[in-house]
Amino acid sequence: MIELSGVTKSFGSHQVLKGITGSVQRGEVVCLIGPSGSGKSTILRCINGLESYDGGAITVDGAKVDRADRSIVGIRTAMAMVFQRFNLFPHRTALENVVEGPIHVKKEPAAQALARGRDLLARVGLADKFEAYPAQLSGGQMQRVAIARALAMQPKAILFDEPTSALDPELVGEVLGVMKSLAEEGMTMLVVTHEMGFAREVADRVLFLDGGVIVEEGAAREVLSAPRNPRTQDFLRRVL
Ligand code: ADP
Ligand code: MG
Repeated sequence: MIELSGVTKSFGSHQVLKGITGSVQRGEVVCLIGPSGSGKSTILRCINGLESYDGGAITVDGAKVDRADRSIVGIRTAMAMVFQRFNLFPHRTALENVVEGPIHVKKEPAAQALARGRDLLARVGLADKFEAYPAQLSGGQMQRVAIARALAMQPKAILFDEPTSALDPELVGEVLGVMKSLAEEGMTMLVVTHEMGFAREVADRVLFLDGGVIVEEGAAREVLSAPRNPRTQDFLRRVL
């Protein structure tokens, strides 16, 4: 579903991605882990075309990601993104936030978008919050609205960028629970996270990024229990 081959990216003279090669298969959950500043967010932003890349190639479901090409609009809607800060519209209700993309970007009939929006909010445990505004919701509830909003676009994959990092500890579990159920339903997911319990339990594979290169990759259990690379070992010692 997502293929990266030798992807490079610099900001000015600072090379942030130094030849990233990796893939996420259809239905697979891959966790991307690594220290702050290693380029994790940049990879996600290049995959959905929010950021350009300099060299190598990225394809999504066989289509090359090229910001200069009109097809980028299709790739952006195919790759939904969930951010650390939920990015909800503050003056719109939960339901209005969820149906915004389907109605205004995908031009779906409002009645159909609203019906699916209610179903999705119920699915993330917010059947009683359709009319709530973001300020009336907890961080965990806002992030679940953000996940429902991502699902409303009927994406081919969801890219998560540290979705629980901004949450109070007691709210992390409800968001990870929703993500776990999506994984079980077969959603293709690329997840940047520091939640090693989630990675171990839910991820099929883990990619460890350090200094703009993937220094280790493999089955979640193997990489997390018996990392081979010293930098992975050091990182895991610090986050666990
Ligand atoms: P991570 O998500 O792993 O913490 P990022 O992908 O956000 O890392 O950033 C990787 C590096 O790229 C950092 O050194 C960061 O400062 C730099 N960087 C990210 N975005 C920009 C930008 N828009 N302009 C300049 N430098 C950037
Ligand atoms: Mg980041």
